[in-house]
Amino acid sequence: MGFISKLFGKKKGSEHHFADKPKCDVCDNSLNSSDGYVLTTEQVVLTTTYWEYVLNNQYSSLRSTENKEILFSLINQQSRQSLGWLICNICSSLFVFDKTKAKEYALKKMSPPNSGPVTPEKAAVYAFAAKNKLVKN
Ligand SMILES: [Zn+2]
Repeated sequence: MGFISKLFGKKKGSEHHFADKPKCDVCDNSLNSSDGYVLTTEQVVLTTTYWEYVLNNQYSSLRSTENKEILFSLINQQSRQSLGWLICNICSSLFVFDKTKAKEYALKKMSPPNSGPVTPEKAAVYAFAAKNKLVKN
């Protein structure tokens, strides 16, 4: 964890969204949890548009890197999250999901029952698809 956490900063999808000052797990902006949505790790990391956002914003240096190990470390870290992800209204447009249900979990400050880690190899398919798309454009 030490090396990776230094490389990529704070954990995502962690307990912090149940704190007094919750933040969006994608863009890091503050929000009221009742204004957001809670998604599962699977809903987040198995989405190409999520990885496009990540590679265009927080980790843009990984967009052009030939070093697949570094991108895979990030994929591994994001896929390992066991709790739900609090997502703000703006970032919610990156995902296709049941907004009514996801809002319910945000209001209850709960992780959806099917939250939990995803096999990093599955998420890697989406992350590398996003990377390839961005390299071509
Ligand atoms: Zn956001």
